[in-house]
Amino acid sequence: MTYHISAFYHFRRSETRLQNLEAIKTDLEKKAEELNVKGLLVLGHEGINTTCSSSSKESLDAFKKWIIDYFQAANIAFKDSKADKPPFRRYKVKIREEIVTTGIPEMMPPEGKNQHLTPTEWNKVLKEESDYVMIDTRNWYEYNIGTFKGAINPNIEKFTDFPEFIENQGISKEKKMLVFCTGGIRCEKGILELQKQGYHNVFQLEGGILNYLAEYPNDQYNGECFVFDHRVSVDQNLAPSERYTLCPHCGQPADTTIECKRCDYHEKICVTCLNEPVKQDTCSKNCANQWVLHPGRKGARQLLPFELENMAATLGEKSPVKEIRVTRKKVTRINEKGEAETVILP
Ligand SMILES: [Zn+2]
Ligand SMILES: [Zn+2]
Repeated sequence: MTYHISAFYHFRRSETRLQNLEAIKTDLEKKAEELNVKGLLVLGHEGINTTCSSSSKESLDAFKKWIIDYFQAANIAFKDSKADKPPFRRYKVKIREEIVTTGIPEMMPPEGKNQHLTPTEWNKVLKEESDYVMIDTRNWYEYNIGTFKGAINPNIEKFTDFPEFIENQGISKEKKMLVFCTGGIRCEKGILELQKQGYHNVFQLEGGILNYLAEYPNDQYNGECFVFDHRVSVDQNLAPSERYTLCPHCGQPADTTIECKRCDYHEKICVTCLNEPVKQDTCSKNCANQWVLHPGRKGARQLLPFELENMAATLGEKSPVKEIRVTRKKVTRINEKGEAETVILP
């Protein structure tokens, strides 16, 4: 089955900031359920930031149209992609002080454009100019799996470290500065910090990497782009990653397969955990803990909640699951009528 995915955000002007967030949350959830749309939406007084998906293109289009009407936001830029597996299991709205976390909630992007470059304009600068500084405003582990050629990695854990990073660089205020992120929202705030520090020749990539790759795959961007759902990352054609999964120990993108010495399961581990004893050859937090407690003892793999959910979905939604039994070789689902169905693990 094909799942249609859209990522987008919308900032409000100070005089039209969103009120009654709980009521908006209810409206969003009601509409998503009605149209069978899944996803995650961050809602705040400053606006919305979301990725959502549906197995029906019509439903997703209807949802987008409804969002435009509901928020009176004609200028939303939707970044669309597709996947074979559902990127979300449910629809969830989270209310937050900021819709993209910077730790500086008073930073408010102005209405409309603020030094945005379209992917075409961005490409032109990268190919024809050389006197600029390009900064990746994402986290270090996102930078590690893919970024623009020549981009600087601030190596920061959180956005509140960004102002100090820039100050310490000692870059001339006259210098042309380029900033980018996954879908453009982080830069809407990041550029404000640069402008505050006196950089006036600064530009941001409109719609971020996702918008760029839609127009220019395999051009100035190298590697994959981390996304915040079950796909983990997307490749140059915005297709879900076949390379990365999330590291079971720390949640960062992982691409090195190990065989767990406790349960023999094959799992991908990230580069950081590959250098840590125990983590480097166990498939999960549970196996790592058990191995420390009982070194050398073999045991069954413990399935994670989302794996149980996936397993239940694979077995069909016929009737509610009463019990799931997991051994090293198989998973058995027992429904309320006492009927058992079994899946042999790979
Ligand atoms: Zn890890
Ligand atoms: Zn294991």
